[in-house]
Amino acid sequence: MSKTKITVAYGDGIGPDIMQATLDILYAAGAQIETDVIEIGEKVYLKGITSGIEPSAWDSLRETKVFLKSPITTPQGGGFKSLNVTTRKSLGLYANVRPCRAFSPFVKTNHPKTDMVIIRENEEDLYAGIEHRQTDEVYQCLKLISRPGSEKIIRYAFEYAKKYGRKKVTCMSKDNIMKLSDGLFHKVFDEIAQEYPEIETNHMIIDIGSAMIADRPETLDVIVTLNLYGDIISDIAAQITGSVGLGGSANVGQEVAMFEAIHGSAPDIAGKDIANPSGLLNGAVMMLVHIGQPEIAEKVSNAWMKTLEDGMHTADIYQEGLSKKKVGTKEFAQEVIKRLGQVPQTMTPAKFDQGADSSFTIKLKERKKAKKELVGVDVFIDWDKDNRDPNVLGDQLAQINLNGLKLKMITNRGVKVYPGGMKETFCTDHWRCRFTKADGGSINNATVIELLSKIDSMQLDAIKTENLYTFDGQLGYSLGQGE
Ligand code: NAD
Repeated sequence: MSKTKITVAYGDGIGPDIMQATLDILYAAGAQIETDVIEIGEKVYLKGITSGIEPSAWDSLRETKVFLKSPITTPQGGGFKSLNVTTRKSLGLYANVRPCRAFSPFVKTNHPKTDMVIIRENEEDLYAGIEHRQTDEVYQCLKLISRPGSEKIIRYAFEYAKKYGRKKVTCMSKDNIMKLSDGLFHKVFDEIAQEYPEIETNHMIIDIGSAMIADRPETLDVIVTLNLYGDIISDIAAQITGSVGLGGSANVGQEVAMFEAIHGSAPDIAGKDIANPSGLLNGAVMMLVHIGQPEIAEKVSNAWMKTLEDGMHTADIYQEGLSKKKVGTKEFAQEVIKRLGQVPQTMTPAKFDQGADSSFTIKLKERKKAKKELVGVDVFIDWDKDNRDPNVLGDQLAQINLNGLKLKMITNRGVKVYPGGMKETFCTDHWRCRFTKADGGSINNATVIELLSKIDSMQLDAIKTENLYTFDGQLGYSLGQGE
C-alpha cells in the first residue's frame, strides 16, 4: 500500500506529548502514513501572526488534504483569532463529527450505554463573527443561517447514519423562538428526512435536547444541529461519558479534513507526562478510516480498548480498585502498542468498513429562486432623549409618508412600544422603527434612501437599516412582539 501524506501539528501544552504518543502507536500498528510537520499555535501567534498559522502551512494542507492536529493555546488578550475557527472556515470544513461513547466500567460514567454521534454545523450561525456595537448600550452579533449550509450538514448527517449503520437522526434547534433562521434548519431537515425513509427521525428543541443528553443519552443516536448548540452539547456529551481526555473529533469538508482531540492544550499538566493521549488517538482512528486504512484503525482502536480493560489508566481516568496501574503518557502508548493485534473482551470490538470514509460527496438539490419583493424597511435609531418616551419618537416619525411608506410600529429589544406600548416596558437607546408600504404603494431602494435622508433632516441618528421583503409572497422577516 502506498503511503498517505498527512499534515501534522504538534501544538502547545500537552500537544507535543500526546502527538508523539499517537504517532508512535500509529506507526507500530503499521499505518501507511508520511508526515509533513507544520508550526501552529502560541509560537506563531507570538511572532505577530494573528491567525496562529504560518502562511506557508496552508500549502501543506492544500497538498495533503488531511490534517492531524494537537490542541493549541490561544494567548489571552485582544487581536488573536481562534485558529480552529480560521482553519474550519478557510478550508470549508463544514461538518464537525464527534462520536461520544461510554467505556464503562473501565471509565466511570453514570450513563454506561451512551453511544451517540454529534454532527455540528461548523461554518455559520453566530460564528460568522459579525458583531457591532450600535449604540452606547446595545451590541449585536449576527446569526447567519443559509439554506445550502443547512442542507449540506443535514445531508451529511443522514449519509453518515446510513454508512455507519445508525438508526436514528435527531435534529436540535430553537425554532420555537427563531422561527426564520432555526426554522429554516428544521424545515430543511424535514425535507431531507423524506429521502431517507429507512432512518428514524425526530426534532427536539435544544433545551430539552440538552437535558436528554445529560439525563438519558442512551435514547440518542445521531444528532445534527447548528454551530453554537453543537459546540455546547458536544462538551456536555463528552463530560457525561467520563473524561474530556477521551473524545476525538473530525472536521470534514468537501476537500480537506482535520482530526483532533476535543480537549484543549491543558497547560496545567503540560510537560509532566501525565496527559491522556486517547482523545487525539481516537481522532487519529477517524483519520485512518478517512484515508482508507480501516483495518489499521480497527487494530489501533481494539488495542486501545484492551488497554483500558486491562486497567492501564492515565491519571484522569484512574479509579482506585478498578485500575491496575497509573501510567503516564509514554507508558500508556507503550501499553497500547503491546496489545496491537488483541481485541477487547468486554467492550464491542471496533469494526470499520472499507469505504466508510467520512467525507461524502454531498449534492445540493436544485431549486427555483423565490420572487423577492421589497415591502418595507426597519430603520434602527440611536435615541436617548425625552426620558426615552416612545410616543415622542413615534409621533415625530409618523409624519413621514413616502409613496405610501409609513411608520407601522416601533420596538425596543423586540417588544412593541409604539403605538400603544406599555409604560412598564424597559427601553434602551436602540429603537427599531418599522416602515411598511401601504396597499397600492410602490417603493424601491431609492425610497429607502429618501426615508433615511428625511430621518436625518429630523436630527435623528439612523444607525442601520434592514430591508423587509416577501419571497413568493411569504414574509421574509419576523413580526415584533405585539405587532
Ligand atoms: P482543556 O481542555 O485544555 O483543559 C480542561 C481540563 O481538562 C484541565 O484540567 C486539563 O488538565 C484536563 N485535560 C484536558 N485534556 C486532558 C488530557 N488529554 N488528559 C488529562 N487531562 C486533560 O481546556 P482549557 O483549560 O479551558 O483550555 C486550555 C487552552 O486550550 C486554552 O488556551 C484554550 O484556548 C485551548 N483550547 C484549544 C483547543 C484546540 O486547540 N482544539 C480546544 C479547547 C481549548
